[in-house]
Amino acid sequence: MNDSVIKVHDKYFKKSILFEEIDKAIQDIADRLNEELEYKNPLFLSVLNGAFMFSSELFKKLNFPCEISFVKLASYSGTSSTETVRQLIGFDEDIKGRTVVIIEDIVDTGLTMERILEQLRIMKAADVKIATLLLKPEAFKGSYALDYVGIEIPNDFIVGFGLDYNKRGRNYKDIYKVVE
Ligand code: 5GP
Repeated sequence: MNDSVIKVHDKYFKKSILFEEIDKAIQDIADRLNEELEYKNPLFLSVLNGAFMFSSELFKKLNFPCEISFVKLASYSGTSSTETVRQLIGFDEDIKGRTVVIIEDIVDTGLTMERILEQLRIMKAADVKIATLLLKPEAFKGSYALDYVGIEIPNDFIVGFGLDYNKRGRNYKDIYKVVE
């Protein structure tokens, strides 16, 4: 098998976005951030686990004073209902009054991002920007602006560059799409 096809658990994935293209998209986002947020003292919030690789590459390309913190969406079941609640955990910074840049790996329907935005509103962030490496425009249902988008992709399931399939596949530096 050549290295353009990988197997993760029971599925095959084919190489679809090379690291060079990913790196260029990240550089373009960084260039804009360097220009637009230089004097805003922004706090970058990386959403674990998927965004760890994107966050690291992006953060290295920023050249003004800024901070990064890592948060996670935790699911838990409420005691009085069976509904699953997703809450952002891991804040060790004061969000109130800050310019916050959310760093996400991928926006699909946009529901996860909606939940994060809601939490940041409650925490009274002064301004919230979104930087996502990938976007599936055909699936996106959000009514908010996506400020910094790296690469738009079709509705295929992908792995690599931090993204997983059942916890595996995050380690590849290129992005692979599922072979149906
Ligand atoms: P949304 O709430 O926007 O529908 O979904 C966002 C989350 O779903 C992402 O943070 C990511 O964890 C997961 N996701 C969406 N599409 C993909 C995909 O193609 N591959 C992987 N590995 N995760 C995805």
